[in-house]
Amino acid sequence: MEKFDIIVVGASTTGAWFARQMAKRGHSVLVIEKNEKENVSREYDIFHMPKKEMERSGLEIPSADEKDFGFTFDGGPMLSPYGNYPKKNVPAGIIGLHKHDYIMRMNKYAEDEGAKIIFGATFVDFVKDEWGKVCGAKYKTAEGEFEAEAKLVADCSGIPAVARTKMPDDSTVENYKLTPEDIFYVVIYYVVYDSPDVDPEALHASFLNYKAVWSAPSGNPRGAILGIGGNYSYAYAEEIFKQWQKNVPWPRYTVEKAERGMTPYRRSVYSFVDNGFIAMGDAGCMTKPTCGEGCTSSLVQGQIAVDVIDELLKAGKPLTRDNMWPINKKYMEAQGIAFDSMRPLLKGVVSMSFDEAEYLFKKDVIFSTKILGGGGEDLELTPADIAQLVAGIGGAVVKGKLKPATVKKIVTGLLQSMEVTNLYKQYPETAEGYWKWKEKADALWEKIGPMSDICDQEVVKRLGIK
Ligand SMILES: Cc1cc2nc3c(=O)[nH]c(=O)nc-3n(C[C@H](O)[C@H](O)[C@H](O)COP(=O)(O)OP(=O)(O)OC[C@H]3O[C@@H](n4cnc5c(N)ncnc54)[C@H](O)[C@@H]3O)c2cc1C
Repeated sequence: MEKFDIIVVGASTTGAWFARQMAKRGHSVLVIEKNEKENVSREYDIFHMPKKEMERSGLEIPSADEKDFGFTFDGGPMLSPYGNYPKKNVPAGIIGLHKHDYIMRMNKYAEDEGAKIIFGATFVDFVKDEWGKVCGAKYKTAEGEFEAEAKLVADCSGIPAVARTKMPDDSTVENYKLTPEDIFYVVIYYVVYDSPDVDPEALHASFLNYKAVWSAPSGNPRGAILGIGGNYSYAYAEEIFKQWQKNVPWPRYTVEKAERGMTPYRRSVYSFVDNGFIAMGDAGCMTKPTCGEGCTSSLVQGQIAVDVIDELLKAGKPLTRDNMWPINKKYMEAQGIAFDSMRPLLKGVVSMSFDEAEYLFKKDVIFSTKILGGGGEDLELTPADIAQLVAGIGGAVVKGKLKPATVKKIVTGLLQSMEVTNLYKQYPETAEGYWKWKEKADALWEKIGPMSDICDQEVVKRLGIK
């Protein structure tokens, strides 16, 4: 049986990046990827990453003449449900890339550092030692079934989480499978505007109140990507897109192609690690709460994992649950608290009707330049901002523009957000305190409920979803 320090399952953004980082630090790495090389990450073409986040994770930015380069872009404003009152974002410096080609680049960097990648190799199961501890992986290729031994198996297989979902029920890593309630079904239309007078750049924007509809560059100077994400199914997302088309005046366009894909839309797993195992990327559910993007946000945990695991391996220490526990604690502090506390708040805010949201956009309350303009980063509300917010909400209620029931939902979201923050700040320092903490966290998330609660119930009923 071949022996490695680490087996990585999946060679997309997370797996390729992790394999490269670990191989670069001198560890032996095997990557198994179920797709053949030419088919890896073909689900959709264009994806974006903020330049700042790429630099943070050491991701190269291709030059304009390389085939994986798409374009650069500064992001657009957030608009109200009927397309008014733009809340301008600070320029975000976003890089648009061709996904398959960029993943090929990432895989090559991993191989250059010494990682071995086998394409067309599907993870089948763990190899376990006599005590039931993970000590490798079984995988199958066109040539047959194989086993390899490793100190760590890293599940980077995305939504199916093929290894995480095989962890036993008593593992600190939850083995849940994502349901349609936990998934954002994304449909993207590559459109070309019928009139040459349309300036696509001037139209780029996002519409939070539809949970996510956006216009972004496609690489075609006369076109754009119009995207939509929704829970439950692609059919649900497409219905919401039709609502947006009805509500927001938009220049005529022709759809040249459409692509579909899924991204997790739920809290992360509470613990990523167990003996000989780690869940990373979409397999651990670390996508951004506002838009479901996960390529760079996953690497926040990735970087922490690289540092902790590298140190353990260099010190000759085993990759046990206890030794790797700091990955969980550090991730919560670095990003987990911010991401997962935003989810209930978003539920509260986005549950309001389009008319209510339109009014608040107009009055710069909640959907204000101050709150939306920073792209969610470094938002600090002063006591004066909070007083203004409360007065704005009160004024809207008095004028009959905001229902008291909506205010209740927003306040509930805010309180639950604070509860998540407080509980996650008490995340156990060691694995010993995990089960007690998990009990409290389970009860809290049960109360919060899934993001799909804020779906349009009329559409849900019409499509026979519930
Ligand atoms: C339409 C769409 C647009 C998006 N746009 C953006 C964007 O612009 N920016 C952004 O940051 N995020 C974006 N996202 C989210 C992003 O795609 C994911 O967060 C990201 O791809 C997660 O990377 P990953 O490596 O963890 O998982 P994945 O990209 O899902 O990769 C998992 C890999 O594991 C392999 N695999 C699966 N099962 C097995 C198995 N049994 N054995 C071996 N290998 C296996 C798969 O073939 C795949 O290569 C978008 C998502 C969608 C659907």
